[in-house]
Amino acid sequence: MNNEVSNADVPLVASPHELRVSLGEHVNEGAIRSALESGDYGFVHSFITGSTVDGPGVRLVAWLTGCQFRCLYCHNPDTWKITNGMPVTVLRAVEVIQQYRHALRVMKGGLTLSGGEPMVQHRFVLKVFAAARDMGIHTALDTNGFLGDRLSDRDLQACDLVMLGLKAFDPDLHRRITGMDNGPVLAFARRLAALRRPIWLRYVLVPGLTDHADEITRIARFAADLGNVERVDVLAFHQLGRFKWEKLGMDYKLRDTEPPSRTRNEEAIARFRERGLKVF
Ligand code: SF4
Repeated sequence: MNNEVSNADVPLVASPHELRVSLGEHVNEGAIRSALESGDYGFVHSFITGSTVDGPGVRLVAWLTGCQFRCLYCHNPDTWKITNGMPVTVLRAVEVIQQYRHALRVMKGGLTLSGGEPMVQHRFVLKVFAAARDMGIHTALDTNGFLGDRLSDRDLQACDLVMLGLKAFDPDLHRRITGMDNGPVLAFARRLAALRRPIWLRYVLVPGLTDHADEITRIARFAADLGNVERVDVLAFHQLGRFKWEKLGMDYKLRDTEPPSRTRNEEAIARFRERGLKVF
């Protein structure tokens, strides 16, 4: 690795809620391309430890930068641009994992790679997961699923859990929320089902956008029919990311949207449970 990708002064462990920009802007385009091709280093927004909401047990979570979606409700828009993350070698990432491996095992947790969209840097993901598995650490991939084709069936067998963020079932609604088609996402979910790889499905409940009964019922039916969805997380929309949109000078269309009411939340949960799904 050359000096262009060193970033020694930036702390690795940081909150994903911190606004982080331009940490990798000194890395030239050729080096970025080579990082994506080799997976020898990745761009990471932050690592946190002790998460209990990003997979089973207590997790070490790395948020990678780069995302091809533009979700209206994204609370980490600073992760969209790959060079907002800091360049981290696989070796450095493995050192961090090693530091926590005993605790992760004792607390029946593991490593979760999230984002942004981690599959933008799928080779880095695969290298880090391989190292984690060699240490006997559970691996979870938190993904929007759009780039699922980048992983072979063998790669998927090596990933213990996929946490799939399904933004919408209706293609038009999905395009309205993310700017992208949901065909590849649904295809990825079906492929995981065929391979019998477990999914935790994540659905963000946004009043006036994703809380329509029909839409939730269709997602619930789809998830139940897959047969490999171990649980569903209904995530209530919140405004924690609003300051990032404002600081980045971006047009935040949901600035006046309230979190869902308790009743709305319970109704959504009930629709998933009606289909026999476990919901948290
Ligand atoms: S997929 Fe995730 S990181 Fe990407 S825009 Fe949507 S919410 Fe944000």
